[in-house]
Amino acid sequence: MNVRVGLGFDLHRLEPGRPCILGGIELPHPTGPLGHSDGDAVLHALSDALLGAAGLDDLGTLFSDKDPRWKGADSATLLTECLARVHAAGWHVVNADLVIATEGPRIAPHRAAMRARIASLLHVTPDAVNVKGKTLEGLGALAHGAGVAVQAVCLIGKS
Ligand code: MG
Repeated sequence: MNVRVGLGFDLHRLEPGRPCILGGIELPHPTGPLGHSDGDAVLHALSDALLGAAGLDDLGTLFSDKDPRWKGADSATLLTECLARVHAAGWHVVNADLVIATEGPRIAPHRAAMRARIASLLHVTPDAVNVKGKTLEGLGALAHGAGVAVQAVCLIGKS
């Protein structure tokens, strides 16, 4: 099988009064990612990994944060559009792996739901999606709940 790997990264500030949407689900938390769209840094990093693997530009080029059409956009819709482009190029997703670094919402209680949601969006089974939460050990500008950073890798294949 012909395979390719892509890497994605994203980070957002966490601010009071924003819904805490990460990995396509809403977490119960008093702060949420600030962004032009819903701010879902998990789906943004994953979208970039997916596009990167297929050699299809990046999320910011396809869905500019200057474009009013994407204000408040559901990032699941953006990921679905990216996946459609990847499928149209003849690729399918093999697996994805994600690290979510934050001292905002706790990730561990929501991992299973996040994996299931992401797997459904990528048209794969949940065992093909892994999600890991990491704290920042109180270090750096994102610590103490100030933000969320996400790394994603995605493998795609073509028969
Ligand atoms: Mg983003």
